[in-house]
Amino acid sequence: MAIFEELAKKDHEQVIYCFDKETGLKAIVGIHNTTLGPALGGCRMWNYEKEEDALIDVLRLSRGMTYKSAAAGLNLGGGKAVIIGDPKKIKSEALFRAYGRFIQGLGGRYITAEDVGTTVRDMEWVRHETDFVTGISRALGGSGDPSPVTALGTYEGIKASIKWQTGSESLEGKSVAVQGVGAVGYHLVQHLTRDGAKAFVCDIDQENLKRAANDFRGVEVVDPDKIYDVPCDVFAPCALGAVINDKTIPRLKCSIVAGSANNVLEVEDKHATALEAKGILYAPDYVINAGGLINVANELEGYNRERAVQAAAGIYQILWQVYTIAKDEKITTGKAANTLAERRLASIGRIKQRFVGVNMQKRARGII
Ligand code: NAD
Repeated sequence: MAIFEELAKKDHEQVIYCFDKETGLKAIVGIHNTTLGPALGGCRMWNYEKEEDALIDVLRLSRGMTYKSAAAGLNLGGGKAVIIGDPKKIKSEALFRAYGRFIQGLGGRYITAEDVGTTVRDMEWVRHETDFVTGISRALGGSGDPSPVTALGTYEGIKASIKWQTGSESLEGKSVAVQGVGAVGYHLVQHLTRDGAKAFVCDIDQENLKRAANDFRGVEVVDPDKIYDVPCDVFAPCALGAVINDKTIPRLKCSIVAGSANNVLEVEDKHATALEAKGILYAPDYVINAGGLINVANELEGYNRERAVQAAAGIYQILWQVYTIAKDEKITTGKAANTLAERRLASIGRIKQRFVGVNMQKRARGII
């Protein structure tokens, strides 16, 4: 693969390969765009078949983070890291500390965090070697489990979507089909049922299902295969990606799709258009599920739960902006989210062209 050609396709800034023979560390850091600030994004550990697959993944994921941070109103750029290997086999303290030293060497251009295949404990090892890591436990002054904040943001996004469609944000008497009641889904059901909504829930994990069904009122359990067919106001995917596709769209009996799962649409443009054609309002996944990122970003300023929760509640207004752009410019809500992010990047990029001297305080926090 011609790497520079690959970087040019989607305007990536930098790719860094990190190798440590002793620990077996093979990591690739992708920095897509740092217009708004340091590139922040998780570190994924995955047993990629080919090195090229790892590179493609890190490029795709880092670009996604640029859009997510920009739309969320954060002063962060887009980055991501991948470590090649089986999380069950290659993890060690030395490997993560070796990774941390490489991250430190980037001087704050990239800030790492946990992702698929890595945990809070791994990041605590990373933290021994670098200042540029987030997603640390609450006990160590970090932001801890992001799921409740992601759920709160998703809940606010659902309210904004209902208000956009009906003129009232009240959940009283509304029904939401929640696919997956794991870390995020569980807390989402809590918010929804507290406000008087009925929740249809499904999960393939019986323990998680029981917990959600027993802990809250107004919950009805549905077979995982039947969740798409439930007549409801909102379908909230909170388990897997690519669940909105050619097979499921004809089955949906909702007027809104709004949930926490990443990459909900199997084919982005095609399925955003198909939902719109069916009169279903789609809350773009990376906008509505940004609560976790907002939570982790808060760590950079000294973690404050109240501030993080307040910022995540702002997802309501951000989605409103997305829907307004979609309506005014006659584009899908998916395209409108990208437009919102691109406009912020362009406008903040422009004002940054002016030299203003060095802000030592910000430099110390890694924000210039
Ligand atoms: P989780 O693993 O805790 O929960 C997912 C739940 O979905 C599990 O209970 C699992 O059993 C269930 N599930 C899996 N396959 C299913 C199926 N076919 N049908 C029904 N249920 C199924 O994960 P989570 O942290 O709650 O995240 C949920 C989704 O939200 C994921 O797509 C994740 O990428 C996304 N997300 C999470 C966060 C966060 O803060 N945790 C942030 C942003 C996005």
